[in-house]
Amino acid sequence: MPYKAIKEIGEFGLIGKISEIAEPTLKATPDLLYGIGDDCAVYKVSDTLFQVATTDILVDQIHFDLLTTPIKHLGNKAISVNVSDICAMNALPRYALISLAIPPAFTVEMIEELYRGMQHAALQYGMAIAGGDTSSSRSGLIISVALVGDVPPERVTLRKGAKPGDLVCVSGALGGAAAGLRLLMREKEIMLEHIENNEPYNRNVMADLQEYPEAIQRQLLPLARLDTVRFLDINGIIPSSMIDISDGLSPDLRHICSQSGTGALIHENRIPIHAETRTIADEMQQDALTWALTGGEDYELLFTVSKNFSGLIDDSRDISIIGEITEPEAGIRITDIYGMTIDLTSISGFDHFQT
Ligand SMILES: [Mg+2]
Repeated sequence: MPYKAIKEIGEFGLIGKISEIAEPTLKATPDLLYGIGDDCAVYKVSDTLFQVATTDILVDQIHFDLLTTPIKHLGNKAISVNVSDICAMNALPRYALISLAIPPAFTVEMIEELYRGMQHAALQYGMAIAGGDTSSSRSGLIISVALVGDVPPERVTLRKGAKPGDLVCVSGALGGAAAGLRLLMREKEIMLEHIENNEPYNRNVMADLQEYPEAIQRQLLPLARLDTVRFLDINGIIPSSMIDISDGLSPDLRHICSQSGTGALIHENRIPIHAETRTIADEMQQDALTWALTGGEDYELLFTVSKNFSGLIDDSRDISIIGEITEPEAGIRITDIYGMTIDLTSISGFDHFQT
């Protein structure tokens, strides 16, 4: 077979191939300090200002389902997931460019709603929607957002830079977005069943969505952790490495370790999972820890800091210290609640080309 299916090499394999081809172009601009391989590219504007740039695409039926997603929330999320990548560089968001491919059945009002969600998020994060492009689409809705952020040179934080002995920290709580997604999927099945049986859709089945508003909100309206970036700044903390949790704690910690050339040891009982997520997992006979490790889409920040900062981190009730960076030979491991240490690398996250 002369041709290879993309699923044979997966999303990260494909990014590797693309990086090789892009590599020679990087020399064209000496001010580009970091290209493919982190949450954002980094370039020098002046001696006192660097900028970071990122782009994320949201595709109907891959990243969202309009049956379970209000279109205004979708606009909000499209901005938040990009701001999250800016936060992962320890930067602040500034300007967004938005490209849309719109199916013919869409109305003007739907696109206005989408943009109202984007406007709401942009105002919340203190950034501007500065331009974009629109096209028609022969398949579903496609939203592509490109975002530029500012960061003082001394505060730029890459995925590489973690050192043995550093503390592994995570903002907020994990697993909620995965729990919310499962609830929405269950809701959709019930809805489709009613349609198939020609029964009126009973709005009471929405009850469990109202019962678990936090998890639904985590899935539909994730919040980028700009507040954590500000907390770090105010307290004079510069992380040694950082990434946002888009794929799941396990694969995202692996990115930090592989780029920093280290191992890590984290502790199950220190991983922040909120009560609602545990209740939903129990109800669905699923495992909340697995959702936290591989569910993804939580958009919390995973970062490492020198032990000198442990007191300051403890002062923030919203940041958990979940473990420590180790020498690479030790691998990436997790200690479970019984004290057993397990290899974490076998647990992977979501790959769009493997499903
Ligand atoms: Mg990211």
